[in-house]
Amino acid sequence: MWFFRSPEIAFGEDALDYLSEIQGHKAFIVTDENIAALGFVEKVQAQLARASIETAVFAGVEPNPSMQTVRRGAEAARACAPDWIVGLGGGSSIDAAKSIWILYERPDLEPDEVAPLGDLGLRQKARFIAIPTTSGTGSETTWPFLLTDTSEHRKISLGHPEDIPDIAIIDPLFVSELPPQITADTGMDALTHAVEGYTSQWRNDFTDGLCLKALQLVFDYLPRAYESGRSDPEAREKMHNAATIAGLGFGNSMAALAHGLGHALGALFPVPHGRAVGLFLPYTIEFTFRGDMPTRYAEIARFLGLPAASEAEGAASLAQAIRSLARRVEQPTSLREAGISLQDFEARLPQLVSNAFNDSSTVLSMRFPSEEEAEKVCRYAFEGKSVNF
Ligand SMILES: [Zn+2]
Repeated sequence: MWFFRSPEIAFGEDALDYLSEIQGHKAFIVTDENIAALGFVEKVQAQLARASIETAVFAGVEPNPSMQTVRRGAEAARACAPDWIVGLGGGSSIDAAKSIWILYERPDLEPDEVAPLGDLGLRQKARFIAIPTTSGTGSETTWPFLLTDTSEHRKISLGHPEDIPDIAIIDPLFVSELPPQITADTGMDALTHAVEGYTSQWRNDFTDGLCLKALQLVFDYLPRAYESGRSDPEAREKMHNAATIAGLGFGNSMAALAHGLGHALGALFPVPHGRAVGLFLPYTIEFTFRGDMPTRYAEIARFLGLPAASEAEGAASLAQAIRSLARRVEQPTSLREAGISLQDFEARLPQLVSNAFNDSSTVLSMRFPSEEEAEKVCRYAFEGKSVNF
């Protein structure tokens, strides 16, 4: 038995207006200072006010939210007793909101005790709305979330299928002025979700089409959204849709090795999530297709109109197309280009590999690397050379 899970999704222009139609008394909005400064909180509050829903705001989420932050957020939520929790922001805010929601419902739990086992018993007190303000993480459609254990320099993947949002608002209003750098970083995340969702061990009939469509949208619209930004609302809307579609895809299958390595890298070096996973993606494709199992990279390549007469040619042309796209949006294509020195790389390589082995995404790769192989992939990624061993 298998499941396909999805929130109710309002998308397109004026999707935010849907908040004026929901039933409730009080909403607790979880966000960060930057989003609050952009005036987005007021836009959300205005629609909730039309539904006679009072609001309280917790704007204390930092990038890569810590367990301390979500504990503080949950205390604030308990003091206000909302019947809606709203996660407004990028992946960090939505992830923090999920955790705060769980701790609000289940004060007996510690933040790192949320595992996908048994019943969690959510929705006794509140339901959950996710409103992404970047086009990439897909966290508005998925249940796993990341918290940072600041004492151990480690990101912990947590979550339970019950914590999938009830409603996702995919309104291009929130991304019309997204800066180019964040557009590129998060766009590469969406791309990686689509490729890995299509090729992980848990890929399935329900998610394949979503992953392929998302990929096509990213290849067509990410360069436009990056280069033209505000003056290209169509590209913005398509990228916003692509990120959520890729989220539904990989959220109902799974990510793979590029996410395992990307998470590991992000915990050791200040490389944003999307940039990290997007950087590793072509190297993991080159590594994976050399395994014995069919990898389906050629299917993706054919769908995108790339040369793919054989599995090898398809994988190579897909990896190449991803590197070209990354260069077009001025993303680093090697760890060296990402600003990591050889000395720091060598010093942290054992930790990088060990973090990657502790990541659930790594386990679901079609080809599971040995420790030595994972090190080799990282060395190729450092130098920016195609994986060939
Ligand atoms: Zn991701």
